[in-house]
Amino acid sequence: AKDQGGNRPCLYNEQMYRALTRRTQLEEEVRDALNYDEFSFALQPQIEILSGRLVGFEALLRWIHPKKGFVPPDEFIPLLEHTESMLRIGYWGLRRAFLILQRLRENGLVDCKIAVNLSAEQMLDSRLAPYLQELLEEFGPYAQWIEFELTERTLVMDIDHCLRVMHSLRKLGFSFSIDDFGTGYSSLSYLKKMPVEVIKIDRSFVAGMLDNHADYQIVSSTIAMVHNLGMQVVAEGVENKEQLRCLNELDCEIGQGYHISRPIMESDLFQMLSSKVQD
Ligand code: C2E
Ligand code: CA
Ligand code: CA
Ligand code: CA
Repeated sequence: AKDQGGNRPCLYNEQMYRALTRRTQLEEEVRDALNYDEFSFALQPQIEILSGRLVGFEALLRWIHPKKGFVPPDEFIPLLEHTESMLRIGYWGLRRAFLILQRLRENGLVDCKIAVNLSAEQMLDSRLAPYLQELLEEFGPYAQWIEFELTERTLVMDIDHCLRVMHSLRKLGFSFSIDDFGTGYSSLSYLKKMPVEVIKIDRSFVAGMLDNHADYQIVSSTIAMVHNLGMQVVAEGVENKEQLRCLNELDCEIGQGYHISRPIMESDLFQMLSSKVQD
């Protein structure tokens, strides 16, 4: 083949070039991040809207890169899709969730749930149920306090397989929620065959519900439908008190969002809790 002139790859601009190098670098580094202990969780409180009572936390993965600092999950998780590293991080996360639960209980928070995001890779991995069984043996009967969040995207991948896995984990005592509800491809018809307790309304609808008629209708009819199916609703992305009030009027049970609390780094949370206990 003829040299078409120069050995520079055709890059459109500097910005794109930088984005690409950052991506390639991150892709390599994220695989080692687990070995270097660079992952942790931030915990975002969930409250019962009516009473304001804390009912649990969602565990959100945090990667603190030694040089770049905080790298958002939306940037590094896509780099891990379909890789063994995603699974390793997933299993690390499950064990960490049990540890967090144990520490919460030691600090007196004995009826707090923890919501853990499960990746598609994990749902498809045959080691999932045996691993959870091992954690239950190691830590004790915590399953009722752990809720797995699945996205509609994960569910539609292989719905029959997901249903089997969900039923087997429910036998162990775990429960499930559907995350980012309304943004995926799921058809309403299979909501009824899904063994889930909780539906999480995506924050894009909550963000628009006070100004946008369609968003309001989507939120209110989703809440009504979910209740009619005997499930609970979590509204995510609650950013102000007007949204919270409106959700309360619509009988939405649980709220999560910056107005209630930002996600709190594990270490900060336990520091807060231990100084409280001493008071
Ligand atoms: P998600 O599961 O929908 O998580 C909620 C996201 O909304 C979090 O972003 C949270 O910090 C953010 N958030 C919470 N309250 C508010 C609010 O009031 N306003 C706004 N604008 N945002 C709010 P984060 O932590 O950046 O996570 C992004 C996504 O990364 C998550 O979306 C989830 O899909 C994924 N992710 C996070 N942790 C894990 C994990 O451990 N495993 C897996 N598989 N995915 C994870
Ligand atoms: Ca989630
Ligand atoms: Ca969500
Ligand atoms: Ca989301």
